[in-house]
Amino acid sequence: MRIHTLFTGVANTHLMETEHGVVIIDAGIPHMTRRILSKIRVLGHSPKEVRLILITHGHIDHAGSAVALKRITGAPIAMHRDDIRLTTTPSLKIPPGRNRATNRIGAIMRAFGFVMPLETFSPDISLDDGQSLDEFDFPARAWHTPGHTAGSMTIVTNDGEAFVGDSILNLLHVSFPLFWENPTAAHESACRIQSLQPRVCYSGHGKPFALNELTNFVGEHCE
Ligand SMILES: [Zn+2]
Ligand SMILES: [Zn+2]
Repeated sequence: MRIHTLFTGVANTHLMETEHGVVIIDAGIPHMTRRILSKIRVLGHSPKEVRLILITHGHIDHAGSAVALKRITGAPIAMHRDDIRLTTTPSLKIPPGRNRATNRIGAIMRAFGFVMPLETFSPDISLDDGQSLDEFDFPARAWHTPGHTAGSMTIVTNDGEAFVGDSILNLLHVSFPLFWENPTAAHESACRIQSLQPRVCYSGHGKPFALNELTNFVGEHCE
């Protein structure tokens, strides 16, 4: 499998070239469809070869172009059911900040949130913890890693690549998300991701990072 990472406005979109097609992990902000599809064509695939649109969680920077991508590719959208409440109304939802600075950023973003409404949806497939994605010819599993949002998922391929969404960021360094619905759950999820022993993690924001960086970050607070 080959991984291609595309910066789609605010967050990363990952394109997985499998033996039988393409899997999209996260769909970017709204109006990123043309950009994502042109990358898929450059890789030598038609939009109809997209097998699955995986959404790590329901925020607009990850789910914004999901409906438009589905319309053109015909691929189903998969997400955890606990984030459906985030994608069935168009308004911007930002969880509380991790600290005072991110709280202030969140307040500013909320004030401007009306500029770009979400094209709403309910997923075609609701992902469960530990679910295999083999039926989409994608040798990987989805793991429930709540905290940033209640329905946040981490996708781990059989080759040991983890797509952690916003559960762990790597902007300047490996860190917790800037915003979170449940800090305790987010801590537990970071430990859980580490316990899955991925070779490399691909974050929704920032660069990929190796298992040893993840292990250093979670440190001694995991059992
Ligand atoms: Zn998010
Ligand atoms: Zn994000």
